[in-house]
Amino acid sequence: MNHFQYIDGALHAEDVPLADIAAAVGTPFYCYSTATLERHYKVFSEAFADHDALICYAVKANANLAVIRTLADLGAGADVVSEGELRKALAGGVPADRIVFSGVGKTHAEIAYALDCGVMQLNVESIPELEALSAIAAGKGITASIGIRINPDVDARTHEKISTGKAENKFGIAAAAAPEAFARAAALPGVRPVSVAVHIGSQLTDLEPFRAAFTTLAALVGELRAQGHEIERVDLGGGLGIPYREESLPLPIDYAAVVKGAVGNLGCQLVFEPGRMLVGNAGVLVSRVIYVKEGEAKRFVIVDAAMNDLMRPAMYDAWHDIKPLNAPPQDAPVAPVDVVGPACETSDTFARQRNLTPIREGDLLAILTAGAYGAVMASTYNVRLLTPEILVRGSKWSIVRARPSYEDLLRQDSLATWQDRSI
Ligand SMILES: *Cc1c(COP(=O)(O)O)cnc(C)c1O
Repeated sequence: MNHFQYIDGALHAEDVPLADIAAAVGTPFYCYSTATLERHYKVFSEAFADHDALICYAVKANANLAVIRTLADLGAGADVVSEGELRKALAGGVPADRIVFSGVGKTHAEIAYALDCGVMQLNVESIPELEALSAIAAGKGITASIGIRINPDVDARTHEKISTGKAENKFGIAAAAAPEAFARAAALPGVRPVSVAVHIGSQLTDLEPFRAAFTTLAALVGELRAQGHEIERVDLGGGLGIPYREESLPLPIDYAAVVKGAVGNLGCQLVFEPGRMLVGNAGVLVSRVIYVKEGEAKRFVIVDAAMNDLMRPAMYDAWHDIKPLNAPPQDAPVAPVDVVGPACETSDTFARQRNLTPIREGDLLAILTAGAYGAVMASTYNVRLLTPEILVRGSKWSIVRARPSYEDLLRQDSLATWQDRSI
């Protein structure tokens, strides 16, 4: 469910015609819908209304300050994986005591900064990290609440590049090694192990891997308690998949039933880290057609967005629906086209042999479900400007990240001291 709909033949974000934004800010641009963000947060949080639950939005999915603020205003915490994300979450209005710091490679400086901020919990992913955290916290004379992330060795049945819970993945500590890690943590100064964490991957379209992971986690909590550890929280990660091609997928309420079945009676606070589920369908990438090129074997629709703006198709072979901003007539014929960007890479392809209604030069297209892992992964590859971001609320819209200028971009580099600046 999202708030990007045709009204009188024009694709709108809530009450705003996307073409109006294109006319004002140019293309390409990302556009996010407040009502969609709010709806997704509410659907997720209401599924756990009968539990002590904290929803820590995974900032890496979309780190725009206005998006973070929208979710923070609803009571969301944050899951962050770097000092930059932590700073953004705080700047977006998320209180430190609702922030979980995750990630397999936190630097010592990042750990020190997170401790100074007073984050709710740091999730530790290795014994060397545990030892470093203990030393840093003890040096500051504080005791940090920590979770230990386990790797439950389950196949998330998602794309291999976003699968994180198999034994061969770099994430977490093997479940079998967790009791030893907790014993080690309990013996160290500066840390208090209060939580077991798990996150098995992203875009899961099947609930069974969740059930398997959460069942492993529940058994482990029992074992750890028997050894005298006080486990107050379990952190169940994110990963719930969203429909990219209007397929029907498990709903938050179905996911909640699996969660409650596996860990509902542990008496623990439940922490969730949804990212994609909250923001994916709340964003589109709008782009203009530069040329329609009749190739030898195919017709190419060349648009002004490229893989540097939205990496998912190139990186994960991801499918994104594409809709023209002007609704085609009901009886418009469809024919296969490749929708490609201008970057000098064959992987700069948004859709291959997609059946679309006729498209002409100058047309505006929306690439849907681009709110998660879109703008955050953008780069300036091919020395292209970063894409601006717009947030809509009802009939209002606001630029929440401006398009940089070429002067901004050129200023980032400088000549070496020995190079002649006079040419
Ligand atoms: C990426 C990530 C998430 C969010 O995953 P989604 O699939 O976007 O819900 C949550 N927790 C951790 C530790 C992550 O790395």
